[in-house]
Amino acid sequence: MKCLNCGAEINNNLKISEIFSLKEIIPNYICNLCRQQLAPLKNRHNCPRCFKPDSEGICSDCLIWEQKYGKTNCHQALFEYNQFIHSYFKLYKRYGDVLLAKLFYQDIKSWSLKNHFDVVTYVPASQSHFEKRGFDPVYELYADIFDLKKLLFKIDADKPQAQKNRLERMQTPQTFSALPEINNFQKNQRILILDDIYTTGRTLMYAHDIFLSYGFKNICTFSLSR
Ligand SMILES: [Zn+2]
Ligand SMILES: [Zn+2]
Repeated sequence: MKCLNCGAEINNNLKISEIFSLKEIIPNYICNLCRQQLAPLKNRHNCPRCFKPDSEGICSDCLIWEQKYGKTNCHQALFEYNQFIHSYFKLYKRYGDVLLAKLFYQDIKSWSLKNHFDVVTYVPASQSHFEKRGFDPVYELYADIFDLKKLLFKIDADKPQAQKNRLERMQTPQTFSALPEINNFQKNQRILILDDIYTTGRTLMYAHDIFLSYGFKNICTFSLSR
């Protein structure tokens, strides 16, 4: 198997016990050299609410959200946003290399096996972005791993979040509405909303808000990067 990022041969170094165990072996699409450029968030004194790394307790972003909404978020992420993640998303989203959707398959799959939810949904691309790119990047990132339900609709925004500064991001108005399928689920079911990157939390807060307004109470969010 070749690394989807750099093309180097991947040596998975399976132990004999792993080969003969009945446990599912999760495919790996990233080589060790590329992996070394990642900054995992595991065991790093993350903010307990949003996984911001190296926070002593609840971070200032989360305190602002609490003041504004009187509610707390429940977010997890796998990797700190760094140069490698930045370049990855540039290739994947801006240049539209859809094959890169699987680069983190092993990491996301492992997380999914340890964290259980009743309903898994995602932050969808707007129609104009979908048409421009030809695929929905968040959907493709997770579609092979979770049984994804499309429950949100994204209204076309003036400009993409990535082109906004921090203040503009925080002040973006609600950009989601619910699809009728949201009524197919019980209000006590555990909901997981997936996104690719958590920056200020603005996007996921709005997605979260839609579910709250429909009476759901048990809502968590997840992103590849924070
Ligand atoms: Zn590589
Ligand atoms: Zn936080």
